[in-house]
Amino acid sequence: MKGSGDLKVSIALAGEIVWLLGIVAWYVIRYPFERRAKRMRVVSDRRSRSEAVGLAAALLGMAILPGFYVATGIPQTADYPASVWAVAMGTIIFASALWVFRRSHKALGRNWSISLQIREQHKLICAGPYAMVRHPMYTSFLLMAVGQAFLLSNWVAGLAGLIGFAVLFFLRVDKEERMMLENFGPEYRAYMERTKRIIPYLY
Ligand code: SAH
Repeated sequence: MKGSGDLKVSIALAGEIVWLLGIVAWYVIRYPFERRAKRMRVVSDRRSRSEAVGLAAALLGMAILPGFYVATGIPQTADYPASVWAVAMGTIIFASALWVFRRSHKALGRNWSISLQIREQHKLICAGPYAMVRHPMYTSFLLMAVGQAFLLSNWVAGLAGLIGFAVLFFLRVDKEERMMLENFGPEYRAYMERTKRIIPYLY
């Protein structure tokens, strides 16, 4: 007979499986853009040490640490009992993150880049999700990190995503906006005045 301990384990496992499927979907959405981006010439490149640190922190917190946890259960001492509600919430939040992620990629199209770069024939996009916030892709990362915290019932693997996201976001966003201002001038200034960064109407 199954005890409540076993049930908790099954719920925790369900959360881990949803997280894993989410990460696979994330890559499936991103891959074609990565391939296409390689073919567009870069005219301005702002990649720097802090860019590399930010990307590494995000990779560590949102993929490597939680992936290691899902594969091995380490660090087990940081586990806490899983709840159906948390896993359901996490599923909804992660799914909405993927939806925003996909819409942002489609809106950005050929202007997409993993780092801070301006490409040939770069256009300023202000439509679709970019009409709501200036950095919808970062909005989707934030949602993904919140989803991860709900899906993985482990303090380290669950919260690592939020830390990784914060490091990437705060190392990057000022530089990105400065780069956009230098390239698009008054057009971007006006765009900044009518939009927030990552949370509509708030921030
Ligand atoms: N910060 C954005 C985009 C991330 S991808 C977001 O969160 O949605 C990073 C690249 O997108 C940068 O190299 C920059 O050149 C480009 N970019 C950012 N905002 C843009 C916009 N509104 N229109 C066109 N390109 C943009």
